[in-house]
Amino acid sequence: MSFAATVLTLYPEIFPGPLGISLAGRALAEGTWSLGTVQIRDFARDRHRSVDDTPAGGGAGMVLRADVLAAAIDNAAVDGPPHRPILAMTPRGACLTQSRIRMLASGPGVIVLCGRFEGIDERLFEARGIEQVSIGDYVLSGGEVGALVLLDACVRLLPGVMGAASSGDDESFERGLLEYPHYTRPVEWEGRTIPEVLRSGDHAKIAGWRQAQAEIDTRSRRPDLWARHSGARVQPPSGARHEKDE
Ligand code: SAM
Repeated sequence: MSFAATVLTLYPEIFPGPLGISLAGRALAEGTWSLGTVQIRDFARDRHRSVDDTPAGGGAGMVLRADVLAAAIDNAAVDGPPHRPILAMTPRGACLTQSRIRMLASGPGVIVLCGRFEGIDERLFEARGIEQVSIGDYVLSGGEVGALVLLDACVRLLPGVMGAASSGDDESFERGLLEYPHYTRPVEWEGRTIPEVLRSGDHAKIAGWRQAQAEIDTRSRRPDLWARHSGARVQPPSGARHEKDE
């Protein structure tokens, strides 16, 4: 059974975009996964095809209507394989992680709702059992780029997409660490040489060096990951102070 993705968007022409080339594009052409888009506007109820309205309580911008989105979601749910999780892209959601991506990639597929404007009527999430997900602590102009990120991360994990040689098991986040650094020829470039151990041919020594580098880099670059990995308490970065400390 292939992984079936359906994206609900006001801009279906964005897809497949980068997912139509390279590994994901080949897998799409081979039927390892499928991608459908739904134009949210097709589910509008008035002759102006409105999908949004002004925010309750006032304020700038427009909010995507729950009734229109629910109709689009219900249609997508009956139109594809059963039991696909429904995800909405929103900066208010839980940040996507490699482990969540692995779980999604091992399932039947996903229905992904892309927001626009100020966002989505909150009542929709509970009413349709929607998981709210974010791709990071910054604000995009729409959920489509986030959906591309989510699908790219899932598709490369599908069986056969990366090829037998690369299972992805060694990569950043898989074992709670960042990956070790990589080098390739030439051995010397602009006065910098590849670490001697990587040229030694001693596989045990190389594995030890890589593990040590992964730990050093995770500790210095991502103290949050390191704390989780090592079970240590997270130390706020030096100099960082909370507002209430001011
Ligand atoms: N008013 C919203 C807020 O402050 O939380 C931001 C709305 S944003 C301009 C429009 C849409 O972009 C959102 O509904 C969401 O679909 C998408 N979006 C923006 N940032 C995102 C992020 N970090 N992760 C996932 N989706 C995001």
